[in-house]
Amino acid sequence: MNLFIAALGTETNTFSPLPTGRQNFDETLFSRHNGSQSDHYFAQPVRIWREMATQQGDEVVESLTTFAQPGGLTRQDVWETLRDDLLADLQSAGQVDWVLLNLHGAMASDDCDDCEKELVLAVRQIVGPEVIIGVELDLHCHLDPELIAAASLVILYKEYPHTDVNDRAVELFTHCRAAALGEFTPVMALRDCRMLGVWRTSDSEIRQLVDEMFTSEQQEAVLSLSFCHGFPWADVPNVGAKALVAVKDNPQLAGRLADELAEKILGLRYRYQPTLLTIDQLTASLPDLPGVTVVADIADNAGGGAASDATWLLQGMIQAKSSGVLFGNLWDPLAVRICQEAGEGSQLPLRIGGKVGPQSGDPLDLRVRVLKIVEQATVTFGAGKQAMGDAVLLDADGLHIVINSVRTQTFHPDAYTQFGLDLNDYRAVVVKSAQHFYAGFAPVADRVIYVSAPGTVSPDFTTLPLAKAGRPLWPQVEDPFAAGGQL
Ligand SMILES: [Zn+2]
Repeated sequence: MNLFIAALGTETNTFSPLPTGRQNFDETLFSRHNGSQSDHYFAQPVRIWREMATQQGDEVVESLTTFAQPGGLTRQDVWETLRDDLLADLQSAGQVDWVLLNLHGAMASDDCDDCEKELVLAVRQIVGPEVIIGVELDLHCHLDPELIAAASLVILYKEYPHTDVNDRAVELFTHCRAAALGEFTPVMALRDCRMLGVWRTSDSEIRQLVDEMFTSEQQEAVLSLSFCHGFPWADVPNVGAKALVAVKDNPQLAGRLADELAEKILGLRYRYQPTLLTIDQLTASLPDLPGVTVVADIADNAGGGAASDATWLLQGMIQAKSSGVLFGNLWDPLAVRICQEAGEGSQLPLRIGGKVGPQSGDPLDLRVRVLKIVEQATVTFGAGKQAMGDAVLLDADGLHIVINSVRTQTFHPDAYTQFGLDLNDYRAVVVKSAQHFYAGFAPVADRVIYVSAPGTVSPDFTTLPLAKAGRPLWPQVEDPFAAGGQL
């Protein structure tokens, strides 16, 4: 059989001050035909699909593999070029028997609220109604019903942090190949839960829900259950949490399981309240906490489209005279350049952070010593490495700060240990990340604290201006179904 594979994605925060242009895609991950060779996490499904297909003796046509670090709206011309390149590869591939796409599901461009929907509809138009189209999505996606109708099978990650990207890729391959061979017809049911939130699968209530989803999948007729968390920082029509279920052949079963999953998700409104501290609460509690505390600056997470140069938390820790602090990764290419010019061991006055916009806070003027410079630094995420650019470890009156030149979140402790640092030497290790840090940092931390500072991905959803949402959403209203409508 002939298999066509591709990967195209970014996560669009429509409130981010950072435009997403071609340079971001080229710098983060871009390959026209050889993405399966990359160790970037977003390329792993393509690698897996190529390997599995080759083992089966199938022919593979590999098109684009590309991803942009999350930011604001993708430029229209950039989106159209990527889309058209992928579709041109599909056209020239001739007759394909099945298609697997690794997409994100929350990509928007200047003139398109839902790039993935547009792409999957175009792919369906080219291949016709019979060809199996499988789509893997991040759980932070929007899931338009038209995308679900155009695809044959859609499977989302279940874990946040996203530790199961590869497992879901294997599932999608296995189920779609069986469907392409005529063993069954995948049937999907989608339910709109009308909720905004962030649900960490490391928290017990969410862990339980995910485990129950895995249990349901043990049934012979069930292909996949997906809890679409949604991506709240996007003013688009389908923003919000959803339930998606795929089964073999049986629409009634899909509908019943989707209803049950949606009810469980709705129940989280009353059962799950993430613990978030203010900056003042954090700095007040730190002196009494033994061991190493990992502090997540979640509102300035580059992975949600933030600049990663916000100074609110750093400013608060300096004012509170917090000691034993390691802080990073603060994105500041200009300050990195100045430090490189000054050299290791130098002392200088340095202005850092607070550059991209009002959400970043004010820049900080510090007297620093350049302790160490790592050129072309990287940080581990999943099975691969992400570029940090050139990175500099600074000492500012006993407080250690890592600044870097390529915007990325603090995924893993090696963002710091590559400087020769031992996290056990610190009372507080700050990471600019919402949850992906958890997989690597939690095992070496005595506790994890999430801080709600101002920022581009602030966790206060009650005031997010979502004019395009088109329906009431919790927690902006208490009961999103009070005025009518159904799941
Ligand atoms: Zn995600």
